[in-house]
Amino acid sequence: MSKSYVIGFPRIGEQRELKKVLESFWANNCSFNEVQEVASKLKARHWEYQKDAGIEYISSNDFSLYDNILDTSIMLNAIPNRFKNLRGEELYFSMARGNDTTVAMEMTKWFNTNYHYIVPELSLEDEYKLNASKIINEYKEAKTLGIKTKINLIGPITFLGLSKRVDRKDPYELLGKILPVYEELLKEIAKLDEVVTIQIDEPIFAKDNEVKVLSLIKPVYDRLSIVTNNLKIIVTTYFEHSNEATKILVTTPIWGIGLDFLYGEENFESLATIARNKKKLIAGVVDGRNIWKNDIQNSLSILGEISKVIDKNNLIISSSCSLLHTPFSLKYEDKMDENIKNWLSYSVEKLEEIKLISKIFYNGVNSLDDKETKVFEGNIHANHDRKTSKIIHDEKVQKRVSNFSKLQRNGKYEDRIKVQKELLNYKDLAITTIGSFPQTPEVRTARRDYKKNTISKDEYETQMKNYINDCISFQEECGIEVLVHGEPERNDMVEYFGEQLKGYGFSQNGWVQSYGSRCVKPPFIYGDISRPKAMTVDWITYAQSKTKKIMKGMLTGPVTILNWSFVRDDKQKDEVSKQIAIALSDEIDDLQNAGIKIIQVDEAAFKEGYPLRKEKIKTYEDWAVRDFKIAVSSAKEETQIHTHMCYSEFNDIIKTIEAMDADVISIETARSGNELLKIFKEVGYKQEVGPGVYDIHSPRVPSVEEMVKQIKLLLEVLPKKQLWINPDCGLKTRKWEETKQSLQNMVEAVNYIRKENR
Ligand code: GLN
Ligand code: ZN
Repeated sequence: MSKSYVIGFPRIGEQRELKKVLESFWANNCSFNEVQEVASKLKARHWEYQKDAGIEYISSNDFSLYDNILDTSIMLNAIPNRFKNLRGEELYFSMARGNDTTVAMEMTKWFNTNYHYIVPELSLEDEYKLNASKIINEYKEAKTLGIKTKINLIGPITFLGLSKRVDRKDPYELLGKILPVYEELLKEIAKLDEVVTIQIDEPIFAKDNEVKVLSLIKPVYDRLSIVTNNLKIIVTTYFEHSNEATKILVTTPIWGIGLDFLYGEENFESLATIARNKKKLIAGVVDGRNIWKNDIQNSLSILGEISKVIDKNNLIISSSCSLLHTPFSLKYEDKMDENIKNWLSYSVEKLEEIKLISKIFYNGVNSLDDKETKVFEGNIHANHDRKTSKIIHDEKVQKRVSNFSKLQRNGKYEDRIKVQKELLNYKDLAITTIGSFPQTPEVRTARRDYKKNTISKDEYETQMKNYINDCISFQEECGIEVLVHGEPERNDMVEYFGEQLKGYGFSQNGWVQSYGSRCVKPPFIYGDISRPKAMTVDWITYAQSKTKKIMKGMLTGPVTILNWSFVRDDKQKDEVSKQIAIALSDEIDDLQNAGIKIIQVDEAAFKEGYPLRKEKIKTYEDWAVRDFKIAVSSAKEETQIHTHMCYSEFNDIIKTIEAMDADVISIETARSGNELLKIFKEVGYKQEVGPGVYDIHSPRVPSVEEMVKQIKLLLEVLPKKQLWINPDCGLKTRKWEETKQSLQNMVEAVNYIRKENR
């Protein structure tokens, strides 16, 4: 006996085939038929991988052409009015991406991952009705290939919990309307086979839920479980514990519960009640959202603990969540250092781990054949190697980090800002930008060529410097007051620093779906972090030498570097983050010693690092703030520290933001007028603020009048001496044409206001 289970599998394809065909279709270079052909091939291959690995519980309906929450909206016929005249793929992709005349639906992060889903948009006029074809067809597709799948669905409570209503009322009020559709769906599914297993994902149960929401669980799952008696319903949660929900779920007739024992250790508390109610437990022990080789002995000991309470017969071994969040297969990593590669496991390798753990757990080590024994021994060896390897454990770094005592910069804000204003001598409503300027095809090509060694270092630097020169001339002509160099040398704000820090690794093919056809290739932190040499000083000092105006140095903050990387799992996150912070503090010191007077430390991902559970927030905030402050601790009083955050909502975290004590923060408020700025006033926020005055996510050029109006709104909330004027975010995804016009209009708007206020 051995039972192995995978919550879900990546769908983008090992060579990002889905991405390629989708983008080709959107560019009118291929037909939708071709898209479907590629999709069928991918599904078949992905099932094959899982079958070959010996996984018993393989999913269907984990595939999607864009997003599985969007698929659920389609399944329920939850289609916003503005798309109602569209059909088929035109409807589907318009909802996801908009079209010439209609704006797309909103997109947001899937819990605390970097995957984005399409936010369901519900209204009272919706007529929910079942569209089960995708689900039914996928099941049949697999069956034709000889694979009997479990069917993955997004649960009704999570679906509504992630929805928004156009009238802003509570989406849960619509439960009575969508539940019958779910019932009908289950009836359709029940016709497919004698027995069908259904996995209903309810990750929302892993958050803090109000009693009102928890009270929906029993009626919903009582009702869904009795629709027909040939369905085995498994409710899965992940990313955190879901103890409150589990307590209720066990009292319903569902067949099993899937829990994450890695990111939700507290789930152990639910074991007794699961056992008492004789539910199956799908135990997530192989990390579905990180890239490290599983420590099989450790997994076995977790399972040993679990099986003290739960009968082995009721246990199934699983990934902690869908493997969607890990790259596909290590087989394309032929350039990686073999030592490091041997510590990693991508999705395909994780399948083998799940199977192996399950086999050993149920049948003992003696049941392994020679090949499996070798893999198991290799696993023990690799894990041991990671614990002791010199390329991971750097005593010098560890010593410095534990003795590091400069926890904040010198001087109180009130004193610092006086010195800074005198020295930097900038006007009220000082005009600046967030850092990057348009990344032209030439810049990208130059970077790529340099990486591939097809152009020399000299040639590369000349091209970058030319870009910087142009960028500076434009800013000077335009009337921007605090300049930036434009970041042409950076492909990505985290990768750029990762590449220069010791302890960081890079993959060739470690792509993970971010949204739709978009993938990211996060770098990974495998060892203790240090900075062999200055990372930005040459570029910034070059730029400063080209202008008499102030050149802002540009760094990415420790929390963002951490949150956008795969992080080692053999050390606490806060320790890794502290190592990065110390490296950055050295960089800041080097910058100011080289004459740079303003330094911006971007914390774009500060907010998304927040834990799902309230009780864990304080711990996160404590170390995140600590490490931002450590990073800037080397700044002299007269060095002005800016930070930038790609958010607009600060209501819940304003005190934390204040505690970071940056002299200036720029934020994303263009789309919300002055509403979201008010909290800064309410709490008596003292430091300076640069609320974005135009939205950089669209190519539209805002007019002078528009921005005058926007600035006036800002002035209703904060005094002019506390305000900076800048766009919402970096400009690297924009074109030069629209950027120039927009920034010119922005400067003109400021000049107009200044004149008026004289
Ligand atoms: N300095 C970065 C840029 O302008 C900031 C980007 C971000 O915060 N996402 O590109
Ligand atoms: Zn931003």
